[in-house]
Amino acid sequence: MIFDKNLHEECGVFGVYANHNASDLVYYGLHSLQHRGQEACGIVSNDGENFYIQKGLGLVTEVFNEQNVAKLKGLNAIGHVRYSTAGGGGLENVQPMYFRHHTGNFALAHNGNIVNSNELKKYLEDSGSIFQSTSDSEILAHLIKKEKRDSNRVLAIANALNMLEGAFAFLILTNDKLYCCRDKYGLRPLSIAKLNGGYVVSSETCAFEVVGATYIRDIEPGEIVIIDKDGLHSYFFSQYQRHKMCAMEYIYFARPDSDIEGCNVHTFRKESGKLLYKQHPIKADIVIGVPDSSLSAAIGFAEASGIPYEMGLVKNKYIGRTFIQPSQELRERGVKMKLSAVTSILKGKKVVLIDDSIVRGTTSKRIVKMLKEAGALEVHVYIASPPITSPCFYGVDISTYDELISAHKTIDEVKEIIGADSLVFLDENKLYEAGKRSELCTACFCGKYPTALYQSYKDANKDGKF
Ligand code: AMP
Ligand code: SF4
Repeated sequence: MIFDKNLHEECGVFGVYANHNASDLVYYGLHSLQHRGQEACGIVSNDGENFYIQKGLGLVTEVFNEQNVAKLKGLNAIGHVRYSTAGGGGLENVQPMYFRHHTGNFALAHNGNIVNSNELKKYLEDSGSIFQSTSDSEILAHLIKKEKRDSNRVLAIANALNMLEGAFAFLILTNDKLYCCRDKYGLRPLSIAKLNGGYVVSSETCAFEVVGATYIRDIEPGEIVIIDKDGLHSYFFSQYQRHKMCAMEYIYFARPDSDIEGCNVHTFRKESGKLLYKQHPIKADIVIGVPDSSLSAAIGFAEASGIPYEMGLVKNKYIGRTFIQPSQELRERGVKMKLSAVTSILKGKKVVLIDDSIVRGTTSKRIVKMLKEAGALEVHVYIASPPITSPCFYGVDISTYDELISAHKTIDEVKEIIGADSLVFLDENKLYEAGKRSELCTACFCGKYPTALYQSYKDANKDGKF
């Protein structure tokens, strides 16, 4: 292992301020953010005096029920869904985290990854802090409470945020306020909406629709939006502001019905499919997409090429989570449990297969094999993103350098490994065109990271590979 995978978490946050049944609303919000993390979830609510907490390992529907949500009293609440890779999955790391302090208790939920967490932790431990978890949220909590001179809480939060390097969307709930913060690079999304005279904050706008909230705006990079009884207040903790939104949010991670910084995710993907065809036109019988994240790009490709879009692969929606750990052989079969190739559609056809990305290459390899076994004559794989050649340090689980197939192999070699008749990746500059924007984080494609990388970089560089 090249670097600490425990630090890499994909998450979603959702908050409600000044609404009856706040914790019910957070429950529904987290349910629509479930794709951002299936391993653990939690809700912390506040009634102006006390905090109420319910957290656990599992899906939102597994952790919460009518009885335990009813105990989460108050008009304000925040929630979190988490997916963490090997090791970081203990109960002590489940968010939101709750902190007691004589100057005021508070709860914290975080999406993203702090790249200087090792350095900050050492600094804090050297000056007496004791950590209970390996979560970045605890680091922020210690930093906020460390600076005793800042009696003004927003200044204490601003100073603490300025010490963090990396990607974050933080929600901080106190007895009377909700603070919503976004990193100065704008790597992770966070939007705000209004509901019944109160407010709702979410990692993705798809969750607003579910609770009936009306979108107001995105929280800006480097901004803290403070919500209190008087409404919304804005405070910028950094003058340095970029809009380096994670390109993978658009490509794979976010839900197609979410809008991120003014661009709908489905529209982005559809556009990337069109651009993929224009970049490398082909004649074929049918276009198919890998469900679900590649369907929008496949629709765009079909529209631009005039090649009919077909349902050559069908996903079993009810597969859920498997509780029996599968052996390698069963895992191979597991893919077939999730996806079926439709023989009557594929037989004798020259097929364009669209997928959103190739990470390790295992998915594409299995799907190409499956399509050929179903009788496809040729399978041309078109990927709606560039080759992933560098790991992500900002909270998206994109493997280690060693595991990334495109970090070691040429496009031609990858084509051979996955068994495709041809393989095309979208050019990096087309991502900006698809999103109609001039800035994005594309570090996993080009290796140019928008932030300093501190220990993560040093660890990765130790082997001289990266
Ligand atoms: P792989 O088999 O490792 O090449 O994975 C590629 C597939 O994983 C693609 O079909 C993507 O939809 C999906 N994918 C891309 N990024 C991620 C991620 N960060 N976590 C989980 N799956 C991903
Ligand atoms: Fe997103 Fe890739 Fe940047 Fe990570 S490195 S934030 S996955 S674009």
